[in-house]
Amino acid sequence: MRWEEVGKRYGLRGGWVLRDVDAECRAGEVVAVVGRNGSGKSTLLRLAAGLTRPSRGTVTGRPRVVGYVPDRFPPAGRMSATAYLTHLGRVRGLGTARSAARAGELLDRLALSGGREAPLATLSKGNAQKVAVAQALLVPPGLFVLDEPWSGLDASAHEVLAELLAEVAAGGGTVLFTDHRESLARTHATRSLHVADGRVTPQGESGTRDLVDVVLAWRGSGPRPPAALPGVRAEPGPDGQLALRVPRQDTDALLLAALREGWSVARVTEAAR
Ligand code: ADP
Repeated sequence: MRWEEVGKRYGLRGGWVLRDVDAECRAGEVVAVVGRNGSGKSTLLRLAAGLTRPSRGTVTGRPRVVGYVPDRFPPAGRMSATAYLTHLGRVRGLGTARSAARAGELLDRLALSGGREAPLATLSKGNAQKVAVAQALLVPPGLFVLDEPWSGLDASAHEVLAELLAEVAAGGGTVLFTDHRESLARTHATRSLHVADGRVTPQGESGTRDLVDVVLAWRGSGPRPPAALPGVRAEPGPDGQLALRVPRQDTDALLLAALREGWSVARVTEAAR
């Protein structure tokens, strides 16, 4: 996905929040958007998700399915987490049974407490945040956008969220998240975009010094499918082995996705610098 010469201001008299943004996000990347409060991080995310239009320039190549987790999720009302997620799943084209099953699976993983059948308005901020994450993943997104997703989450949900981000990327999706803490960006992202004074600057590959080479061998019985995995360096040679290079923090999610696809792991080594 690409931002080309993108500028954004709110209203004709508003000042430019973002100007001349030229940036790109590729499939399989987890990109952190960092910058001070009010610098325009949420605006950049809303442009990515297609929730707001650029005042100038274009955003192209947006994947068809976008999952969006807003910074404040206001699920007021009497609907329960189960009813709400099942309803949204149906809106997104899942049947009722699949929708309810997917909702249950996500709430299990995120360990929602406070009651799946309780009115959403009674949930704590952390549990409401879990519902916000779940609604964005009912259908696997090609673009997963999260605005300050770690705020308010308990420690175990932190880990699950990190796994979920890595899984979307390992499945060939793009993840874009904000946080004002650089440490979280370093831990969970493969790359950062820094927003300041209306400008967006790539911070370079945070993982270039910490890459892992993975070699996979096809063990499936049928013909080998095209690999929907990130970091493919070359298509398989005559030995049928596939070579990939990924940031260390994505290795677990990549291996998990590869095993599920029917690959077996032939080799995992430090990438030569
Ligand atoms: P961040 O996410 O980095 O805190 P935002 O993108 O939310 O930054 O906001 C950037 C600037 O744009 C701020 O000055 C904010 O007041 C302004 N802004 C954001 N959303 C709107 C809006 N809907 N209408 C008018 N101004 C807005």
